[in-house]
Amino acid sequence: MIEMLNVSKKYPNGITAVNDLSVKIEQGEFVYIVGPSGAGKSTFIKMMYREAKATSGSVKIGKFDVTKLKERDIPLLRRFVGVVFQDFKLLPKLTVYENIAYAMEVIEKTPKQIEKRVFEVLDLVSLKHKARMFPNELSGGEQQRIAIARAIVNTPGILIADEPTGNLDPDTSMEIMNILEEINNQGTTILMATHNSQIVNDIKHRVLAIENGRIVRDQQEGEYGYEI
Ligand code: ADP
Ligand code: ADP
Repeated sequence: MIEMLNVSKKYPNGITAVNDLSVKIEQGEFVYIVGPSGAGKSTFIKMMYREAKATSGSVKIGKFDVTKLKERDIPLLRRFVGVVFQDFKLLPKLTVYENIAYAMEVIEKTPKQIEKRVFEVLDLVSLKHKARMFPNELSGGEQQRIAIARAIVNTPGILIADEPTGNLDPDTSMEIMNILEEINNQGTTILMATHNSQIVNDIKHRVLAIENGRIVRDQQEGEYGYEI
């Protein structure tokens, strides 16, 4: 599903954010990415949806050979890799329904298909009743649930979450984790970069620790492993 081989990323400013990194992640895995700030976690995951382009090495995501992907095919990759962020990134002038529907409109699904699927994903995050609201009318946790619904509306093979609980309190973070677990149980591969030691230690999954652009630990049922 995900295969990186000897991947490096050097930014134009000369910083090598990822350094000769190799890793394999199978379909259906749930993987935490941990490590200190500046370790290269974001760069590592950005290379999977071509937000960052590897300088060398090979990145394979599903059927996509990402390092060789043509610009015009990047949208196809991004349909296969859903992403959620710490700060949600919802469109403030669109309703909840429209925020989610938009991702399907751009790939020209019919209004009927869109309505059916949008309510399906809203149901998964238990927010059907807020379809007509605007993002600023929702709590942080609700906004993150909408962002997750949007990320999976086109049924991606992989869901990437970069610090999804970074702005949320512990109870709300646990709600988000329950939703991610459910999505994972339905077969979606999940990669989650996080500084949330409690979650990593309580809800056991594979842990990749990154330091100085390299994987320094790869542990099944791993622990967070850093002082807080
Ligand atoms: P993390 O997500 O673990 O905090 P990042 O991947 O964001 O790490 O950053 C790794 C290193 O690359 C850091 O030294 C950071 O300053 C640098 N870096 C990240 N993004 C860029 C960029 N767009 N241009 C230049 N340097 C960057
Ligand atoms: P239920 O199956 O629980 O009756 P619906 O899926 O019909 O729920 O609708 C959930 C909420 O979203 C309701 O408030 C409904 O009025 C609203 N809604 C239904 N269809 C749309 C739509 N196309 N656009 C925006 N809001 C809608």
